[in-house]
Amino acid sequence: MTENASQASFKALVADQADGKAQVGLTRWTDADLPEADVTVAVAWSSFNYKDGLALTGKGRILRRFPMVPGIDFAGTVIRSDSPDFKPGDAVVLTGWGVGESWSGGFAERARVKSEWLVPLPEGMTARHAMAVGTAGFTAMLAVMALERHGLDRTREILVTGAAGGVGSVAVRLLAGLGYTVAASTGRPEQADYLKSLGASVIVDRNELAQPSKPLTSERWGGAVDTVGGTTLASVLAGVAYGGAVAACGLAGGADLPTTVMPFILRGVSLLGIDSVNCPKPRRQEAWTRIARELPPETLDAVTTEVALEDLPRLAEEILKGQVRGRTVVRIG
Ligand code: NDP
Repeated sequence: MTENASQASFKALVADQADGKAQVGLTRWTDADLPEADVTVAVAWSSFNYKDGLALTGKGRILRRFPMVPGIDFAGTVIRSDSPDFKPGDAVVLTGWGVGESWSGGFAERARVKSEWLVPLPEGMTARHAMAVGTAGFTAMLAVMALERHGLDRTREILVTGAAGGVGSVAVRLLAGLGYTVAASTGRPEQADYLKSLGASVIVDRNELAQPSKPLTSERWGGAVDTVGGTTLASVLAGVAYGGAVAACGLAGGADLPTTVMPFILRGVSLLGIDSVNCPKPRRQEAWTRIARELPPETLDAVTTEVALEDLPRLAEEILKGQVRGRTVVRIG
């Protein structure tokens, strides 16, 4: 199926390189500027994630080709499809697969992507709601599903680190909604009321976890979602109770892991790796189905801030400093 192929231009935030330096600016592209693939989407909403902050500031070498449109996720409507799986008018969501890294992504009014990367928007979910969840919320769901598959002790607190951030806020909301007692670790004590409004029972000062810890400390956590990595993840592992598990999904505090084998060999603790980018399709669809059921839009209102494409260069600096709260949706279409 084809749209009335237009060469009309559309708004795009484009990253390019000049004299070896990355530059990001708003411009206009046409369909000819997009990569070749079988589905073209009119993007309605995107969202702003930590990785987008790395991409826009040039830190972390996220962008793999130039010029390209950053934005690791988007939701919108199919306007052209050469795939039997989608037709014009279908509502879709995309996260991961290297989009916004090595393939032009969501910070433009149009995206052209491979049909196998798209997930139909769950029944009743709007594009804005999908992006209030976005990559960060989807990752939080994957982390919770991994902990559930492992089995969680309901009598103990489940810890979320980096709790006031995007992955953290959604993880707190999901775990609290599932009836767990949630401990939220944050470096922003002023966000305690916010975290309690999401369902956290206990607020933990992140400095308690940021110091190098003994290989084992007292058994406190039934499990954890860790978005911070580094010394924090090592401290979390040391305090997980016998048989518990930690879902590791981030590196906001560092990519190293200065731990010992003691939690694993003396307490049977498991470290569960979470990857949202190449997550296989069946698990992706299961996660979105659960998101639609367990995170109705009103539960994300308190978590969500709305911005425009023009705001993103400023936000990129802020998110890397840990100053952005919850989720940020980007109005595109
Ligand atoms: P955010 O910036 O929204 O959240 C990160 C939070 O981590 C901050 O809000 C802050 O929480 C805490 N934090 C920041 N810096 C430090 C520090 N130096 N030491 C300790 N805590 C810190 O990012 P996202 O939620 O979008 O992403 C979180 C992490 O998860 C990132 O590392 C990201 O790359 C990763 N990620 C991984 C995915 C995967 O597929 N595995 C997918 C999505 C994200 P507070 O203020 O509460 O302390």
